[in-house]
Amino acid sequence: METIEQLIQKKAYELGYEKCGIIPLSMIDGYKEKLDERIKKVPESEQFYKGQQRLANPLADYPWAKSVVVMAVPYGKYKVPEQVKGHIAKAYLFDIRLDENAEEYKHNREIEKYMSELGLKVATNQKFGVVGMRWAALQAGLGIVRRNNFFYTKSGSWVHLEAWLTDREMELKETNDLPQCPKSCGKCIAACPTKSLSDSYTMSPTACVSFLTTFGGRDLPNQPLSKTFGSCIYGCDICQDVCPMNKGKWQENEDFPGLEELALSLTPEEIMDMDEEFYRNKIQPKFFYVSPDDLWKWKVNVLNFMRNNYKDSYRPYIIQACQNENGKIVEMATSIKKDLKI
Ligand code: SF4
Ligand code: SF4
Repeated sequence: METIEQLIQKKAYELGYEKCGIIPLSMIDGYKEKLDERIKKVPESEQFYKGQQRLANPLADYPWAKSVVVMAVPYGKYKVPEQVKGHIAKAYLFDIRLDENAEEYKHNREIEKYMSELGLKVATNQKFGVVGMRWAALQAGLGIVRRNNFFYTKSGSWVHLEAWLTDREMELKETNDLPQCPKSCGKCIAACPTKSLSDSYTMSPTACVSFLTTFGGRDLPNQPLSKTFGSCIYGCDICQDVCPMNKGKWQENEDFPGLEELALSLTPEEIMDMDEEFYRNKIQPKFFYVSPDDLWKWKVNVLNFMRNNYKDSYRPYIIQACQNENGKIVEMATSIKKDLKI
């Protein structure tokens, strides 16, 4: 007869999860130590990692928790529309956390229902997690963390991790035979445009393009690093794209629901012309790291992109933005106009 752990794992595989492991809650203890280690290496990251502390102590919010179920679901099968390729990071394009049309979202709801039907009390936080997800996945044997800090399975780093706390003591580890990073490889570190990733497993989160173009970067016009963002508008995949362990892992076989149509509205020009209502209803629910009131942030990101990839057709957008009612947009556009002498 199958154990409850085996039943959960079997159901997860049926639903398309690549990996599913279960660990006792005590196995996440080491996460706090990891956070402290990171802060010691990069002291300016303290504030950022303080926000992660709740993930090191789930018992504070869930005193009944006894184990963690953690799963990996690959997303490297989806086609990336040309309009957003290299401009919007793939994890956000194929974000399944809140997208009710995505099959992975439905599977997340289904596996949770299944665990409840098995008699378990479960809790998750689909948006921001209930535990340090990469740490839990590592302990559960789902894969490995590479020098660029991303979690890899045999699908490369193109996997979403999901986790649940349960009120039952359980354990069922996965195994993997992934090779470690080649000794001499440092391609991810060399490619990082802002030097946020400065050494193996060492990064300054607040200097990362992914932070500065989403929930951080509130003062991009005065952020010197913005000139190094290249073609990034929202997020950055560079340290994953250059990784040899990701070679051939992105398949582009399937359409992600609604993305092809949405991408038409996400060109630099369309974003500059976007109105608040469209942004609030169509864009923000998917790209929720920028709040409903912060369309200006997207426009500043795009102006920055236009400066870094300047062509004459961008000139009218930059000139017009100098008259915008938002001060940050004006500041960005004015400084670009001056820099480029247009
Ligand atoms: S996501 Fe981009 S900016 Fe951030 S560490 Fe990786 S390469 Fe650097
Ligand atoms: S680029 Fe090289 S060092 Fe960086 S994560 Fe990939 S294999 Fe490891």
